[in-house]
Amino acid sequence: MSQPSDRLRALREAVRIAPDDASLRRLLGDALLQAGDAEEAEAEFRATLRLDPEDATARLGLVQAFRAQQKLSAALVVLEEEARAGRGGPEVQLLLARLLLETGEASRARQAYEAAVAANPAMADVELAARLGGVRAGPAAEREPAGAEARDDADGAVHVERPGVGFKDVGGMDALKEQIGLKIIHPLKHPEMYRAYGRPIGGGILMYGPPGCGKTHLARATAGEVDATFISVGIHEVLDMWIGQSERNLAELFKQARDQAPCVLFFDEVDALASRRSDFRTSAGRPLINQFLSELDGIDGGNDGLLVLAATNAPWHLDPAFRRPGRFDRVLFVPPPDVPARAAILEILCRGKPADRLDFDKVARKTDGFSGADLKAVVDLAIERKLTDAIRTGRPVPISTDDLLKGAKDVRPSTREWFATARNYVMYANEGGLYDDVKPWLA
Ligand code: ATP
Repeated sequence: MSQPSDRLRALREAVRIAPDDASLRRLLGDALLQAGDAEEAEAEFRATLRLDPEDATARLGLVQAFRAQQKLSAALVVLEEEARAGRGGPEVQLLLARLLLETGEASRARQAYEAAVAANPAMADVELAARLGGVRAGPAAEREPAGAEARDDADGAVHVERPGVGFKDVGGMDALKEQIGLKIIHPLKHPEMYRAYGRPIGGGILMYGPPGCGKTHLARATAGEVDATFISVGIHEVLDMWIGQSERNLAELFKQARDQAPCVLFFDEVDALASRRSDFRTSAGRPLINQFLSELDGIDGGNDGLLVLAATNAPWHLDPAFRRPGRFDRVLFVPPPDVPARAAILEILCRGKPADRLDFDKVARKTDGFSGADLKAVVDLAIERKLTDAIRTGRPVPISTDDLLKGAKDVRPSTREWFATARNYVMYANEGGLYDDVKPWLA
């Protein structure tokens, strides 16, 4: 089902069978919008909202459908209502900026754009910033060097780390560690053996899954595990920081990584290189994609000692050319941690902190749907509470299981939303069984 028209047909059929399924109707609305049929898209988004008035994505879809039909005031009314109701996330602000610009309200447009980028630097849009005039495309994303040694390169663009973490610092993820071992670590340690058996060395691993489940953490730990350097780049940085010369700088980035070999080069948000233009993000365009692919293929001088890992929360937006052999030929799902993995992550996060004997299993059982990042928030909350007590009493007070359980009550599990989006792709765009690993999680 690779043709957009096939997808549209399948979605229409699905809606015919299940006309009361709000998310299906929204998907059909999206597909129609992409196919340029804004009028019918409008009808589908309206139907979605009748079925589920809380569906914020459908409201944004409706705005886009209005906009495509030049019903700009209608679009602005919906959008401003969203912002007024406090639902004005960065996507809303960005869309508002575009609409205000189109209706001639440049200074309000500029404010909305700046609010969007301040809330989420990934929203930066070079083209829009240029049209607004006098606005920076976007702040360079903040990065935290987590390794034992980190340094900035002279131009401040590429951060080379030598991570102080290894697989022992990654809870759960056993299947992934094994795959990375086979595909990346063993070939690096025993290249002659692989050559003798004619096994290819190279090619990358693409990880996908809900946010906060440890993709970046695992990539960094992989570098630590083989004592390699680690370079982490958000694709939006490639796009934003080097306006108009992204291809050249991508080449420079790969060159630096090769110079630092052995090196794990990690690309986050790799879906931003998607060939399809999405309304909320800048799209890289064909030349940059081609440049990226030829760098992966090691056209100039090979990629010995260069280990490429990439991550995305939206693998369905990625150009299929990325998945060819020698490129990202392993596509691995990074699921939310299960009970034993959550216990292991909690144990890692509490290491070295003043604590009683903690019942990690008990906390793990109460944190269904939590990502690693959510668990970190739980531990941080527990620590904050204890810190307040410690400052009051003047002595360290150990963290207890109860503190963790209380923390868990205040953190909302963040992985479910991702599955709500993934469900439709897994059901209707699962070419070659690409997303089969996600299926058991949808039950
Ligand atoms: P995103 O998709 O938002 O980039 P991600 O999948 O890359 O998220 P990380 O940034 O790796 O997630 O995880 C966030 C934080 O959660 C990590 O810095 C780490 O502290 C903690 N964490 C996540 N998973 C694990 C794990 N398996 N073991 C230990 N810590 C973890």
